[in-house]
Amino acid sequence: MTGFFDTPIEYLKGIGPQRAALLNKQLNIFTFADLLQHYPYRYEDRSKFFAIKDIDETLQYVQIKGIVKRKELTGSGIKKRLVVHMNDGTGEIELVWFQGINWVAEKIKAGVEYVAFGKPNRFGSRLSIAHPELDPVVATEAPKFFLQPVYSLTERLRTGSFDNKALSRIMRTLVDLSIDKVRETLPAQVISSMLLVSKKDALINIHFPQSHEWLDKATRRLKFEELFYVQLRLLKLKYVRQTAAPGIVLQNVSLLTAFYNEHLPFPLTGAQKKVIKEIYGDLKSGKQMNRLLQGDVGSGKTIVAFICMLVAIGSNTQCALMAPTEILAQQHYYNLQRYAQQMNITIALLKGSTKKSERVIIHDTLKTGVLKILIGTHALLEEEVQFNNLGLSIIDEQHRFGVAQRSRLWQKNKTVPPHVLVMTATPIPRTLAMTLYGDLDISVIDQLPAGRKPIRTVHQYDAHRLQVNEFLRTQMALGRQVYVVYPLIEESEKLDLKHLMDGYESISRAFPEVPISILHGKMKTDAKDYEMGRFKKGETKIMVATTVIEVGVDVPNASVMVIENAERFGLSQLHQLRGRVGRGADQSYCVLMTEYKLSADSKVRINTMVRTNNGFEIAETDLTLRGPGDLMGTQQSGVLELMIADLGKDGELLKIARDKATDLLQNDPELAKPENRVVRVQVDSMKKSMVNWSKIS
Ligand code: ADP
Ligand code: MG
Repeated sequence: MTGFFDTPIEYLKGIGPQRAALLNKQLNIFTFADLLQHYPYRYEDRSKFFAIKDIDETLQYVQIKGIVKRKELTGSGIKKRLVVHMNDGTGEIELVWFQGINWVAEKIKAGVEYVAFGKPNRFGSRLSIAHPELDPVVATEAPKFFLQPVYSLTERLRTGSFDNKALSRIMRTLVDLSIDKVRETLPAQVISSMLLVSKKDALINIHFPQSHEWLDKATRRLKFEELFYVQLRLLKLKYVRQTAAPGIVLQNVSLLTAFYNEHLPFPLTGAQKKVIKEIYGDLKSGKQMNRLLQGDVGSGKTIVAFICMLVAIGSNTQCALMAPTEILAQQHYYNLQRYAQQMNITIALLKGSTKKSERVIIHDTLKTGVLKILIGTHALLEEEVQFNNLGLSIIDEQHRFGVAQRSRLWQKNKTVPPHVLVMTATPIPRTLAMTLYGDLDISVIDQLPAGRKPIRTVHQYDAHRLQVNEFLRTQMALGRQVYVVYPLIEESEKLDLKHLMDGYESISRAFPEVPISILHGKMKTDAKDYEMGRFKKGETKIMVATTVIEVGVDVPNASVMVIENAERFGLSQLHQLRGRVGRGADQSYCVLMTEYKLSADSKVRINTMVRTNNGFEIAETDLTLRGPGDLMGTQQSGVLELMIADLGKDGELLKIARDKATDLLQNDPELAKPENRVVRVQVDSMKKSMVNWSKIS
């Protein structure tokens, strides 16, 4: 059966080798199955016709029915174009072609009634549609489909005469051919309990819906199936690890007790205690830990990491901490070193730039087991980095490492894999965590240390700059320091840098008596360090900077942050930036400056920031605004390459899918029962085609 769906697309009627090559290259479509899964991204209602008099250029697309009055060829050379005047009794519109003119001109007959479809534009008082779809009206033909599928295409495909119409036609052929061969891919019990439509009906209706209702049913079914199999894979991975991977038993708490008694710098928060307990439970369990530790900026993850390390080191093993950037690795080193020194524990930092002589020492002491804690970037993954007995790997992830890299760290121990703790500072919405980290157990530090005053955030329009400056003046008079942050994105780098310099100048003019630092990514490292140093020491009172301060800057006395052009930042980024203040005992402030005119999305972002300091709430909003792809960057996309489901919108369905997958695996972990045969077959076929599946069993 699967044979049919593996057929290369060139064998489909209407495709052939040349078009197949185009589809391979442009859309990554190779087989019948690939093509069938190229779902439409929207649908057009082709049952309605617009009256030409009602058309304006704000409409996305229109379908009209009218008589071609005349056609004219104008211009010459590259300016040459064909203009066709269509009239439907209510008004007239121009249909314009710039390419394929001769062919089109010949085809179109004056005096005949046509249906035209496309995006209306306006030039002066004249309405036109460029390159419309145009078909003669056939009296007997009832509209075949209520909703016309629209597929994503590339420009190259369109110019290769592979437009939406052509693809729809081919899809129709394929769907017709496939109907009898489609097999069910979900167990009967799941289908009936979820009131899902069959796979076959879903496939037909996702491409050629009979009605809106059928489209909804088909979409829900296919989304559910996709999410179900993603969750099944993650849960199976988790199950395999839990049953198959033994863990080093780490349970000696003598070091931990000593630290608690003599050096604990502050009482731990309830949330910190809770997660330490969860982690300790894993470490001593004899099974390998794979746990995600989530906690908002400033929630105190560092000390939690150190305390867990104490259990590992007390039990005679070593620890690794891997960070995504050198700055972060350095910062972790700096923070942990203080604690390590108090406890007489050896600790080292390995960077890309670490000198050969130092490296040799690190490698040696690591191998003999003298060195207990090694911190670094992915340099840790290199072959020469050999541990004597690695007990605990901590990965500060920040969304930058993928599942594959994570698993490379666990291969660092030859016999038994180390326990793995993944830390992330960016709160992740539950739905996303379930998918990105669905193979991990999750611990959350959902509480900030006591005594922190919540940051007060306000929104100000650029027009009120004088008041803002006045506010800064009073804060500085109280001895506080101020960040002023400007956006800098690659696409508009030059202009952004200019804004930054202009901003620096106007601040210098507004505060002639105040020493000011400036910091941006284009500066040399020592210049940056110098400016940063001056600000840290309090020699400068205002730091004008781009988002380079997002990571790695920690100045407790800086309690005010002004974010310029705040509408240009994403929510998560605003939240991360704001996390730079509120580190000391003073009341902190964040001022979001924007222009007067704001898009709807920008308003939501700004209002969310003003309303809450809660990173999880912010992350949820960000997810609905931007969708998961943008939110996470592309590195992690392995599990996020969803064809139809949308983690931002389908959270409810995802939860159900995870529950159903959990039930199924609990009942039948090996997928051996007859009623789960369809699942087994589907998993086997996915294993063949998807890298992600191949790791399991
Ligand atoms: P993050 O979770 O962002 O890594 P850190 O571990 O850097 O947070 O902690 C932020 C600040 O809060 C540090 O200065 C740290 O010493 C302090 N801190 C952590 N836990 C507590 C606590 N329980 N009580 C008081 N201060 C704490
Ligand atoms: Mg931290």
